Amino acid sequence: MEIINPGNAGDFHIHSSTFSDGFNSIDEIVKAAGELDYLEIAFTDHSQALSDAYGMTRKTHYDILSAGRWENIYNNVKVTFGVEADLLNDNGDICDDIQGITPDFIILSAHRKVFNSEPSRIKSGYLNAIARFGKTFNMLGHLCTRQFADEMDSNDILEIVEVANENDIALELNCANLVYDKTDLIKLKLMIKHARLLYVNSDAHTMNEFIGIRQQGFQFLEK
Ligand SMILES: [Zn+2]
Ligand SMILES: [Zn+2]
Repeated sequence: MEIINPGNAGDFHIHSSTFSDGFNSIDEIVKAAGELDYLEIAFTDHSQALSDAYGMTRKTHYDILSAGRWENIYNNVKVTFGVEADLLNDNGDICDDIQGITPDFIILSAHRKVFNSEPSRIKSGYLNAIARFGKTFNMLGHLCTRQFADEMDSNDILEIVEVANENDIALELNCANLVYDKTDLIKLKLMIKHARLLYVNSDAHTMNEFIGIRQQGFQFLEK
């Protein structure tokens, strides 16, 4: 197993107040990333489907970003703008846009709020989505979340991990889910053991999470 982003290499799952439900703006987080000596960060705000489902109000236009009007004027941290795409059903339909724009960096996650098939069909959803769009996904987000962990047994997790490995899709140690006890630890350990590529990400929605939570993930990996 290879960790793609050890130490200060960076954090690739962050939510902002600019485009979804984070507490802090893109500029505030970029400044903090410089203080952490991170090399790179990726903003992965929620897909339009999840934002709409929660009634998150639109504060600004995503095409200001896609037109290249934003620049990091604070430090040398490389800033990537991605999306936490949503798995929508067991056919593997997904929502991977923010305001109609699909970024290049894509996490595929499943959230109960917008998964419209029976929860027990979650494995088929992942496998169909990877078969249809797999080359576009950089990673699967929080695969072992308790939201769906009871719907998959260990063999199901292994099957998804193997297909991800074959498609060069990384798995994720989601540190917010780990710390807030939103992860099935047995399945998480199995996933980590078999994943070929692993990200260690904060899934930060607040500044304290962005600054501190990945360290707890690395402590977990050492044990
Ligand atoms: Zn969120
Ligand atoms: Zn997230």
